[in-house]
Amino acid sequence: MANLLENIDEVLLMGPGPSCVPPSVYEAIARKTLGHMDAAFIRIMDEIKVQLQALLQTRNRLTVPMSGTGSSGMETCFVNLIEKGDAVLILINGVFGKRMQDVAGRLGAEVDAIEFEWGTPVDVEQVNAKLEQKAYKIVAIVHAETSTGVANPVKEVGARLKGTESLYLVDAVTSLGGMAVAMDEWGIDALYSGTQKCLSCPPGLAPVSFSEKAMAALAARRGKVPNWYLDLSMITQYWDGAKRVYHHTAPVNMLYALYQALFVIFEEGLEAVYKRHQDCHRALVAGLEELGLRMLVPPESRLPMLNAVRCPESVDEAAVRQELRRDHRIEIGAGLGPLAGKIWRVGLMGHTARPECVERLLGALKNTL
Ligand SMILES: *Cc1c(COP(=O)(O)O)cnc(C)c1O
Repeated sequence: MANLLENIDEVLLMGPGPSCVPPSVYEAIARKTLGHMDAAFIRIMDEIKVQLQALLQTRNRLTVPMSGTGSSGMETCFVNLIEKGDAVLILINGVFGKRMQDVAGRLGAEVDAIEFEWGTPVDVEQVNAKLEQKAYKIVAIVHAETSTGVANPVKEVGARLKGTESLYLVDAVTSLGGMAVAMDEWGIDALYSGTQKCLSCPPGLAPVSFSEKAMAALAARRGKVPNWYLDLSMITQYWDGAKRVYHHTAPVNMLYALYQALFVIFEEGLEAVYKRHQDCHRALVAGLEELGLRMLVPPESRLPMLNAVRCPESVDEAAVRQELRRDHRIEIGAGLGPLAGKIWRVGLMGHTARPECVERLLGALKNTL
């Protein structure tokens, strides 16, 4: 019987995630599985919480990785905070803002949205004007919009919300580990991320953090959280306290991987990690421009870890991606929604953000175009 795992290509992952995984993270996954209530494993869990707090620049006690990909983190934040009829404002300029709107709507929230042109950032003036008209229980924004390569003004919107009753909910799936995220300073109340972007860990976990204000909103709910699996009031009993209460079996080896991925980041140092992302981004953009290609996003709003490149009219967008994968073993991403067929998305996330990856892609692109 053929084993399909024996013939897996080593692909240079330069798309919108998953990103390349460092060898020590693969080694971590292969370590012996411990019981999920084992004292040695609980020490690893405790250390993961501390490292996540440091990465998020937060003192939030409730900072845990949820079992599931980034979207489970999104679902966790909304399902724990929304009760039927709550007023929620979503700031949308790409796929992941749209997804927030869908998730909040399914939970019975009264969802208002402000939509901005894809490829441009959220405009703080328009947000302020909306907030003058109406008070919201939750205001939600995506920090790094992976579908377009735009960085949104999370800090500025947070400054406007300070001192109000609103809970500030932020998607940091693609930003975390690649650029600074200052949860407490920016006034963020609920945040989720994912492991397979700049944390350079395989997909499967979603770090989530709740402020005291968000925890108070959870405690003040009229009814139970309508999703048993993602109910933080139960999950914290497993992740916190002297006596741990079983909720669901932790994905033990995935948590080893996250532990190691965080270890790798702190060993290099946060400033060095963020600078490496910026340096690789600059080198990539310079090389692309030399090839005559243009970026979708204006320089001041560009993300370092997700580069949206306009596909020239004369070029077959999908054929280029296929050739890169087939002949060069490089994966890059396609455009989504209104940008399908119009852009490529080149990821420089975590372990992928290395000069040799940039050079390899530029060489392959030159060859292909
Ligand atoms: C990837 C991504 C998600 C969803 O994460 P999954 O791991 O695919 O579930 C959510 N938000 C943003 C900004 C993302 O880039």
